[in-house]
Amino acid sequence: MIYMDYNATTPVHPEVLEAFLPFYRDSFGNPSSIHLAGRRVKAAVEEARERLAGFLGCEPVEVIFTSGGTEADNLAIKGVAAAQGGKGNHIITTRVEHPAVLNTCLYLEQKGYDVTRLEVDREGLPDLARLEASITGRTILISAMFANNETGTIFPVREIGEIASRHRICFHCDAVQAAGKIPIDCREMNASLLALSGHKLGAPQGIGALVVRRGVKLHPLIHGGAQERNRRGGTENVAGIVALAKAYELAQGSLAAESRRIGGLRDRLEQGIMARVPDVLINGDGKRRLPNTVNISFAGVDADSLLANLDLAGIAVSSGAACSSGVLRSSHVLSAMGVEPSLAKGSIRFSLGRENDEADLEGLLSRLPGIVERLRAS
Ligand code: PLP
Repeated sequence: MIYMDYNATTPVHPEVLEAFLPFYRDSFGNPSSIHLAGRRVKAAVEEARERLAGFLGCEPVEVIFTSGGTEADNLAIKGVAAAQGGKGNHIITTRVEHPAVLNTCLYLEQKGYDVTRLEVDREGLPDLARLEASITGRTILISAMFANNETGTIFPVREIGEIASRHRICFHCDAVQAAGKIPIDCREMNASLLALSGHKLGAPQGIGALVVRRGVKLHPLIHGGAQERNRRGGTENVAGIVALAKAYELAQGSLAAESRRIGGLRDRLEQGIMARVPDVLINGDGKRRLPNTVNISFAGVDADSLLANLDLAGIAVSSGAACSSGVLRSSHVLSAMGVEPSLAKGSIRFSLGRENDEADLEGLLSRLPGIVERLRAS
């Protein structure tokens, strides 16, 4: 199989597997236990927290481990909203966020909060002047993603953080797709909160983290024991936490080299498709884009048929976000960018990663043009 769907999920890195398997075998224990087995795993959790914080430019006490990106986004948005105690009820976000953010905002809207969803331009970028103009005395939070999961477009997060900090408003950044692919520094970008997810960067599914900077008032989402300094009850996912820190360390260590290698592969994939398939359009910002992602519209083709045919040919890609696959709805991201509905319906996301190589590229380029031609003729 040629797997080009790394933005949906990634294979677990072999070194990550090595690092976390012992916690399922001999080194089991509950970090809250007083005995040696408990103390050992507690130490492993705290070491992972420290390392992750170092990579993200925050303090270890500012890291809360969660079950993934969705929980981290929910905790950030609902947690900040609940902690306001009536001081404000306005949230600003963008139309191209992941459903983990959009549907959390929708939920709060139904509970009486005001939500501004900023439009984006053809590249998928919000207008910062509009963002600033939409701030009111009741604004409590700006939630904007670091990089878009469907197009790879990278938001000007530093500028957004600067606006938020100037107005003394919390800035939550969903960095799920950026983590492990491009550098992240919470301090530099003035993020009050930042979400990430393990399975997008070589750790297993079911682990993520939310950075909550000191001074940010946050109510917990999950009540229970005193874990995570009373901010997230429940016995910790020890193996997942160890895996997340290891995966981040590996990604960080090879960031520049992998970015060049994968960016090169992605560019050749893009050029190869443009040269071999007529009537295609690349969606997203040409320059400010994740190195591994390309979203392409194939005119006159239904993305789901293309996806199914590529699958039969042994190629795994995605039409829009993985979470919306199976639901025949054109992408909210492409529609917010003003991509014509007929083109949006024929859009495919190729997202590359660690195990992709030139042979994968050749495999794709030898099969894709024929499939598109056949579908257009049918
Ligand atoms: N945010 C973004 C930008 C994503 O791409 C995803 C997953 O696709 C999530 C949040 C949700 O993360 P998780 O799958 O860990 O819940």
